[in-house]
Amino acid sequence: MNLLSLSTTLLLVLFQRHTVGKPLQGTQASNDTGESDLHQDDIVYRRRIQRSAMSCSGRCYWPKAPDGLVNIPVSISTEFSIEERLVILEAMQEFVTLTCIRFINYTSEYDYINIIPGNTCWSYFGKIGGRQHLGLAKHGCVYKGLIQHELNHALGFLHEHARSDRDEYVKINLEYVIAGERGNFEKVNSTNLYLPYDYNSVMHYGAYDFSNTVGKPTIVPIPNKSVPIGQRVGLSNLDVKKINKLYGCNSCSTVLHSSSGILSSDNYPHPYPKNVTCLWLIRTAQEKVYLNFRDFDIQPSSNCTCDYVRIYDGNNRNAHVLIDRFCGIGQLPAVMASGNTILLEFVSDGDTTSTGFTAFYTHVKCGGTFTDASGAITSPEYPRRYPPNQACLWIISAPAGRRIFLTAAFFELEHIFGCRYDRLVLRDGGQRHSPLVGTFCGKMKIQSFISTGSFLRIEFYSDNMFEFSGFRLQYSIRTID
Ligand SMILES: [Zn+2]
Repeated sequence: MNLLSLSTTLLLVLFQRHTVGKPLQGTQASNDTGESDLHQDDIVYRRRIQRSAMSCSGRCYWPKAPDGLVNIPVSISTEFSIEERLVILEAMQEFVTLTCIRFINYTSEYDYINIIPGNTCWSYFGKIGGRQHLGLAKHGCVYKGLIQHELNHALGFLHEHARSDRDEYVKINLEYVIAGERGNFEKVNSTNLYLPYDYNSVMHYGAYDFSNTVGKPTIVPIPNKSVPIGQRVGLSNLDVKKINKLYGCNSCSTVLHSSSGILSSDNYPHPYPKNVTCLWLIRTAQEKVYLNFRDFDIQPSSNCTCDYVRIYDGNNRNAHVLIDRFCGIGQLPAVMASGNTILLEFVSDGDTTSTGFTAFYTHVKCGGTFTDASGAITSPEYPRRYPPNQACLWIISAPAGRRIFLTAAFFELEHIFGCRYDRLVLRDGGQRHSPLVGTFCGKMKIQSFISTGSFLRIEFYSDNMFEFSGFRLQYSIRTID
């Protein structure tokens, strides 16, 4: 799905969310589903006195177990399909990965969340005691960010644009708010956990939500009107920080959601902290995440059992592992995700003087990381002509001590002397500056090749004219004496 169609989908979702439900302001909950007592569109306040975010004396928060985890039993209605259930579980997985919240299968606990289909997306505010429903309309609410929004209400969070200091960050245009919907823009006396206002929160409404006039925003960020607000892609960095602070989680998690950026271990370039497990979730808006380490110094140990970096091809620890337990001094190969998320895990023990790592990430159109024992790499749309304006990167990653055998089964690109335009670049290693094996174009013969280390890097570029069938390269990982 490209960015345009993704944003169209999101707009449709937001529109549906705000039109499927008609909140009845100021009425008492009249039935068990709670939908008749919605405030700010989708929150039900069971306790009127607790309208302030983060000020319900702990009773509306879910309790923490002695092991530091907050177990919240959840039951998902069987009316949801397998596919819908998977989306709900994926939305929960991000909480589980980045915070101490654990959504566990409901068995017979007294307090639990019961996720049911409904006419709207809605939730109670905080834990109300006993069974509490959380509504997700099958058409319009079963999207990761929307589900996370409602779950966050159940954890005790209100809307970001409603917080006490919001007037410093947004201007509310009440004149453009649909009649009867002004309650959605009321300010609340919240404590805000001493964390900054977050335009990027899944708890922030979009600029045009509840607008009565096409093109007229109801919420305008100040002073910069162009700051995007109201994403429903996933928990923001501050969403995660707020959950971890409110629930006193011993979690070290960072979410990076710019299109490119830099991440470093704590204190870099000074020695990293002892006994930490830290996670960085990189989530680009589109395409595939590309991560390149610029400096890497992790205390070496046999099989990296003490300090290490591990990289997952996705947003949680159940995802495929791209790089498993890496340590030592030197450079990690560049890593390509199969999608728009990468999870980096860094673990240190109690004895270290190493300085850690710094890495750069961005997104690229095509490529991937290969870790299987053998496989084939082809140009985009092979054997049809490759598209113009491509820039692809593949990394083949073998276990330590193994090497990679590469052969070309087919090769034909645009032919220009010096291969300045369409070209395939092969490097003996995983880095941008690893030794060059060759730059190839036209019908040049690519000799079979064996890597000297356990990584190979393949780059492919096409310009805006003269496309050919491209290439098919085959590799196998071997033990070579
Ligand atoms: Zn809400």
